[in-house]
Amino acid sequence: MNIELENHKLEKRLCREVGRAIVDYNMIEEGDRVMVCLSGGKDSYGLLDILLKLQQRAPVKFELIAVNLDQKQPGFPEHVLPEYLTKLGVRFHIENQDTYSIVKRVIPEGKTLCSLCSRLRRGILYRVADELGATKIALGHHRDDILQTLLLNLFFGAKLKGMPAKLVSDDGKHVVIRPLAYVPEKDLVRWAELRQFPIIPCTLCGSQENLQRKQVGNLLREWEKKYPGRVENMASALQNVVPSHLMDRALFPFETLRATGVPDDSGDKAFDDEPVAAPAAQPCAAPAPQGNPAAPRAVIPIATEAS
Ligand code: SF4
Repeated sequence: MNIELENHKLEKRLCREVGRAIVDYNMIEEGDRVMVCLSGGKDSYGLLDILLKLQQRAPVKFELIAVNLDQKQPGFPEHVLPEYLTKLGVRFHIENQDTYSIVKRVIPEGKTLCSLCSRLRRGILYRVADELGATKIALGHHRDDILQTLLLNLFFGAKLKGMPAKLVSDDGKHVVIRPLAYVPEKDLVRWAELRQFPIIPCTLCGSQENLQRKQVGNLLREWEKKYPGRVENMASALQNVVPSHLMDRALFPFETLRATGVPDDSGDKAFDDEPVAAPAAQPCAAPAPQGNPAAPRAVIPIATEAS
């Protein structure tokens, strides 16, 4: 396929998927001031780039402010982001805070730095959001980050838990959004190459890369290569949850479940293997729990491909 056409299709797809996530989760509303956290990595550059495009054509008016926290890691090229953002003509703020020295001082040699480092970074970014009057904080996590987190929680955390597309921050004061929640990482890699973002390496702190996350990321990539569509199905599954078919008693009233005596064609066949349903393309109703056709059915919106 002609390269230009392919690039045009990639841009359309990125805008469509980001727009879809914004609408599905009501991420951005009229008058919002969105603080876009920019690390210098491909994902956050891509996020800002696509949000700027959507800002031009969105039916609602919103502001964007790019924010970078310069943590004073050795070798951080502090001129790169200001130069790039000035050229782009976007409003930005660089917050200079030497969290690197604090972390190095407090954490014993050889121990992982990330937990304290991210706690400090979070607190600083919340404060900056307050100072800038930001109503939303946008982060650059994408679909594959969310799936990696899901698998990590499943394998190591004994929890069925991914990464939310929208959440209220732990201080209760901020709404954090992830507009790239539907975007596969490979599209962001290609977009970064195409747009020639001035990428800043993420290894400056010298911290060990999270090995488990890396392994899970490789697993997802291998699956996608061997079984195209599997990763996409996993992402769709996050929007298609059937609490009656899991075992969390806090989510489904198993204790009070009673036979109703009323047959239900779409109910479960208790003695048969559960068939694996093909993903639906339309909003659908989760099946009612077996023997309880009167129970309300949760309507779960399933993502559809927009043109
Ligand atoms: S990788 Fe480095 S910058 Fe990132 S959280 Fe860990 S210590 Fe901080």
